[in-house]
Amino acid sequence: EARSPDDLRCPIVVIMGHVDTGKTKLLDKIRKTNVQEGEAGGITQQIGATYFEKKTLETQTARLNATEKVELKVPGMLVIDTPGHESFTNLRSRGSSLCDVAILVVDLMHGLEQQTIESLTMLRKRGVPFVVALNKVDRCYGWKTAKDTPIREALKGQDEGTLMEFRSRATDAKVQLQEQGVNSNLYWEMGDDDWSNSDFIPLVPTSAVTGEGVQDVLLLLCQMAQKKLEEKLMWHANLQCTVLEVKAIDGLGMTVDVLVVNGHLKEGDRAVFCTLDGPIVTEIRGLLTPPPSREMRIKSEYIHHKSVKGALGVKVIGNNLDKVMAGTPVMVVGPDDEEEDIKAEVMSDLTKLKGKLSTEKAGVLVQASTLGALEALLQFLREDTKPPIPVSAIGIGTIHKRDITKISIMNEKGHPEYATVLAFDVDVEREAREYAQEMNVRIMTADIIYHLFDQFTRFMDELKQ
Ligand code: GDP
Ligand code: MG
Repeated sequence: EARSPDDLRCPIVVIMGHVDTGKTKLLDKIRKTNVQEGEAGGITQQIGATYFEKKTLETQTARLNATEKVELKVPGMLVIDTPGHESFTNLRSRGSSLCDVAILVVDLMHGLEQQTIESLTMLRKRGVPFVVALNKVDRCYGWKTAKDTPIREALKGQDEGTLMEFRSRATDAKVQLQEQGVNSNLYWEMGDDDWSNSDFIPLVPTSAVTGEGVQDVLLLLCQMAQKKLEEKLMWHANLQCTVLEVKAIDGLGMTVDVLVVNGHLKEGDRAVFCTLDGPIVTEIRGLLTPPPSREMRIKSEYIHHKSVKGALGVKVIGNNLDKVMAGTPVMVVGPDDEEEDIKAEVMSDLTKLKGKLSTEKAGVLVQASTLGALEALLQFLREDTKPPIPVSAIGIGTIHKRDITKISIMNEKGHPEYATVLAFDVDVEREAREYAQEMNVRIMTADIIYHLFDQFTRFMDELKQ
């Protein structure tokens, strides 16, 4: 099938930023604005993502677009549902192929915070276009609510004192962004030169509670996607697909939630997945999405699809899926493909990562939620810690008893300090925790990478004394 600018897939959006800036609230607001207007249609819950039809985007931005007159060419928008560090690590995991555009949320009252800066750095490194939402604008003193209105309209209704506070806080944010090497401005004050400079970042004041500026964010994202990503968004038949999560479901066994970014995925396809033990090839037995409305959402009542088309989030059923790793690619063996080539390609990120592991036999076990998170963590331990923390083994997902057995060997090898698991954003089975105590293995857990480093360094210092 020929690629054409008239056949775009919908852009994939992630919401990022520091904890408590309002990411979840903003996602809720984007979802609900429409529902409150009595139009429940046009928004579909998918696996790991929410899909907005074009019609819905048009309604949601109608008031602003009455003056802006932007022609919407994208067929909708797919917003990833897990705001925060999960989307951060997942985004990292497949590079820019996973997300097309992003909303970086900043709390207008707090300015730039640690995770905001991390996200900012990463988005720029990946070349992902994004807007900065200066959220909680309604906290400016004396703010008069103008529910769900475009931001300029909302600002017009404010008193001079409120506007002064707003101006001063927005300027602070701009200065802080400048300190990170980023030029930015309130988006309506940007000149033509600024728009054509892809490093220039538009700022949009928002309230995730009362909805001011939400229209502006949506319309800007559409515009950015259409202007900067046309080539990337053209629909094509080659599958581009990433594992979001691996989950056991009653009656279905182990299932894999994937994001089909582009191309087709069909029942009966011979799919190749990545596991730590090597590639697995399995037939796709089912493709599921949740039922259309919440009321119908009874356990296991999914909609079955014969075939799906990107961009879309879907649950895959098949055999032998239990060891599949989040953050890895999924590929399909086509009639003209060599299965071995496909296997090598699916494994290539992990193979590269393993190549970078210290060849030393002594080191800690590092366990993370996704391949991308693992990559980030290993890089941090190798390059940003002094002295570097040696790693002898890696793992993805929940920590089981077998992982404890694996690393407890360090005690016998005369390296009790490395009988340690550094666990990033993963669960620990109760049995594993108990066994770890028995075997003198320490488990250090954290959701922020440098906290793990702090814990381990403190522990090493204690050992020395
Ligand atoms: P997240 O950690 O980034 O997902 O932040 P949440 O969405 O959970 O929001 C953190 C807190 O800030 C909650 O108490 C929200 O009600 C509040 N909050 C979020 N957005 C806004 C906003 O625009 N205005 C106000 N006043 N409060 C907000
Ligand atoms: Mg949240």
